[in-house]
This record gives sequence, C-alpha cells and structure tokens, in this order.
Amino acid sequence: MQSETIARIFAGQQQFFKSGATKSNAFRKQQLKKLLKIIKANEQLVLDALHKDLRKPVFEAYATELGPVYKEIKYILKYLRQWMQPVRVSTPFVFFPSSSKIYKDALGVTLIIGPWNYPFNLIIMPLIAAIAGGNTCIIKPSEFSTHTSTIIKKIITQNFDENYLAVLEGNGQEILPPLIENCPLNHIFYTGSTHVGKKIMEMAAKQLCPVTLELGGKSPCIIDKDANLKHAAKKIAWSKFVNAGQTCVAPDYILVHETIKENFIEEIKKVLLKMYGEAPQSSPDYSRIINEQRFDKLIGYLQKGNILLGGQFDVSDKFIAPTIIENISLQDALMQEEIFGPILPIITFKKLEETLRVIESSPSPLALYVYTNDKKTEKFFIDNVKFGGGCINNSLIHLGNPDLPFGGVGYSGMGQYHGKYGFDIFTRAKSVLKSATWFDVSLWYAPYKNNIKWLKRFFK
Ligand code: NAD
Repeated sequence: MQSETIARIFAGQQQFFKSGATKSNAFRKQQLKKLLKIIKANEQLVLDALHKDLRKPVFEAYATELGPVYKEIKYILKYLRQWMQPVRVSTPFVFFPSSSKIYKDALGVTLIIGPWNYPFNLIIMPLIAAIAGGNTCIIKPSEFSTHTSTIIKKIITQNFDENYLAVLEGNGQEILPPLIENCPLNHIFYTGSTHVGKKIMEMAAKQLCPVTLELGGKSPCIIDKDANLKHAAKKIAWSKFVNAGQTCVAPDYILVHETIKENFIEEIKKVLLKMYGEAPQSSPDYSRIINEQRFDKLIGYLQKGNILLGGQFDVSDKFIAPTIIENISLQDALMQEEIFGPILPIITFKKLEETLRVIESSPSPLALYVYTNDKKTEKFFIDNVKFGGGCINNSLIHLGNPDLPFGGVGYSGMGQYHGKYGFDIFTRAKSVLKSATWFDVSLWYAPYKNNIKWLKRFFK
C-alpha cells in the first residue's frame, strides 16, 4: 500500500471528523443501523468467507462472529442516547457557586487492527464502539484470513465513504508503521499477539497515541475434586475445541485434582466422541488450522508428553484432531507458549495452592476458569490470581455478556470493551466546572490576610 494512499485516507478522515458530522446521536444511530442492515444482507458471504478461511461451521460462525455483532449493535442502539448525555456530578462547597459535568467527547480518527481467528467479530465489535463514540475509523483486518478481509473491505467500501470508514488490506508489518508513526491517530484498538502488541504500543508512543491492547496468553482451567465432572467435560470440550482451539480465551491447559483426573478424562473422551465422532476429520462441525505455519508450530508441540486422545493430523487438510496430552513439564514449549490450537495438556494437583505456581509461570492470563461447587475455592482463585475475566463452572461465555467488561491485564492486554465499556474506550470523559457569576467568594484573592483560617475550614 502506497504511503500516499494512507496519508490521503488519514487526512480525509481528520477533515471529516473536524466537520463535526460524526458526532450527533442521529448520525451515530443511522450508521449503526446501516451497518446492521448491510451485514445482514451480506450474511451468507460472511459465512462463506469464514468457512473458506477456517472451515468454520455455520453454527460456530453464527454463535461467535455474527450473532454477537447483531446483539452488540442492538444493545448500543438502545443505550446510546443515555450514554452520550453529560453526567452531572457534585462540586465541593469550597467552589460555591459552581456546578460540574462530565461530557463524553468523541476521539477523532481511530484505527482498529484485527487478528485472524475471529476475523469478522474482532474487527466489527470494536468498530461498533468506534461508531458509537462518534469517531471515524481505519480498519486493518488480518492478512491471514484473506476471504474475511475481502468481504469486510467490500461491505465497508461499498457502503461508507472512506473519509468516514476505510479498510486497509495487506501485511500489517508493512502498511501499519507509516500510518501509526506518521499520522496523529487519536486511538488504536489492537487485537492480536502480545509480541506485536508491544510493537504497536512502541510505535504509538511516537505520537503519544492511546492504545487498547487485546492480547493473548495461557488461560488456566482448574477442576477441583468436588466439581460436577459431566458438566465440566461438556463445557471444556466445547470451549477448547470450538474453532479448533484457535480462541484467545480458550482453556489453554487443565489443572485437575489428582483424585478425579481419570474420571475427567473418561468424561471428556465421551463428550468429544459424541461431538465429532470416531473420525473428527470428517465432521462438518470441526474447524481447520489457519495456515501451514501455525500447523507446523502445533505439530511440534506433540513431540513431548503422552497423548491420551487424538494426535492425528493431516497437513494437506490443515487438520489436527482434538488432542489431550499428559506428562508435560512446565519447561516444555507446550507450557511455555500460548497453544492456540486443539491440544489440551492435563496437569494434576493435590492442594489448591500448588496451582498458583503453574498459573504464575505465565503471568496475568486473559481468562481463568474454575470448576467447583465450593464457594471457598471460587474465592481462592478470584482473590489470588490476576486475570482478565473468566467463569465459574463454565468457560469462554463471559465475553458474551455486554454488561461485563472484556479485556486482559498485564501481558494479556490493557483496556476493556463490549457494551458501555466499548463506548467508554472510544470516547473521552471531558470535565467541565461551571461557575455562576451572581456571587464570588472573596477569600480566594490576595491580600490573603486571615483567609487561610476560612480555607482550612473548607478543607477540613
Ligand atoms: P498478530 O499479532 O500476528 O496479528 C494481528 C494483527 O497485527 C494483524 O492484522 C497483522 O497484520 C498486524 N501485525 C502483525 N505484525 C505487525 C507489525 N510488526 N506491525 C504492525 N502490525 C502488525 O496476531 P494473530 O496471529 O492474528 O492473532 C493471534 C493472537 O491474538 C493470539 O495471541 C491470541 O490470543 C490473540 N487474540 C486476542 C484476542 C483478545 O480479544 N484478547 C482475540 C483474538 C486473538
């Protein structure tokens, strides 16, 4: 992509934002309604693209990519006017007679950078928040999910002026540095790996541009001895193997109490057999690995440990069977890196405290899941582990609740979105204190003489 094209898009968006056109409630609502309508009109093309990129089954594509987008637009349309209203807050008496308000200011030209694993959702969800915030937006989908990137470009460019919403396609490493380093963007919303997230933040620092980073990491899944195993096995099987394990909040590994390990393995084997049959490669409900590079990386993980289930793969089809593996050490690559594929290591523990050593070997996970019927166990993990968000007796679905902020902490990210939290990220709280002119407290002005006595009373 030519740097002149990037400069043209940025300048056009900056000018359009300055015109004030994006800021009214009516404009934002109109654009959100239009977006909803055109996505619905192109639904089949989106489903086809997701199938071509990742062999996503229609059910999964609808449950994780399209459905949440529809819900989010409707949710935001319902509350947008309310969120946009200035909020009146109290004012200390010492400033009498004054009042204070917080205005939610649109930011300006924003940039959204997406990954390939949920290539539609992870571009459109932040885009909804950017529109709701009254901004213009440049969108950069992942170059690895090419079919979805093409359909996003088609939907946006055929329906929106590039001075409002524009799509840049191609290699992020080549096209993004000139934009981020040379153009004073007002916000960058990045979803992807921690490694690239650091680079984005470093580039953004040159323009002091604020960033939201939605990153990855190893999300632990703990099963205590009192857990309902049938329930846990079903929830874990679905959440780990949906999208063939290529989910940022998938349970990365299992920490199971040693006394129930065998029972858990039996249960999850039964569930997986029911879900994908004897030959998961023939199942229409099982996705594929995005590309050969990721495929090779995942196959490499199978060199160590003892495979309890699965382990079959076929490079020509980018297929890796749902795999369960034991006898893994914390030093093995499988436990050193985010797996991001259909391989589930199982580690045992005797005492809850032991799990912390494993969890802390990859600090601040994006998600944490606990299967237990004991409130004390629940509290132990909520109190002792720093994690982005999570579930008790479930996995993954916390991100489907628009009233829960979604995002990481530390190495798994900064900033949270979905629902009102997305609106907050794409707006800035602007504080204004307004004083009345009918009365003025004279103690503020020199000569101060004994005014300090009164001032001390005010600050008591
Ligand atoms: P990635 O970091 O390789 O790529 C993400 C985006 O960054 C792509 O659009 C790419 O073009 C761009 N990019 C890559 N290198 C760049 C560079 N040097 N400069 C500028 N831009 C660059 O990530 P990925 O492989 O697409 O996604 C996988 C990772 O994303 C996993 O770690 C996963 O956990 C994480 N993830 C996080 C979330 C979340 O919500 N927290 C969601 C999905 C994926």
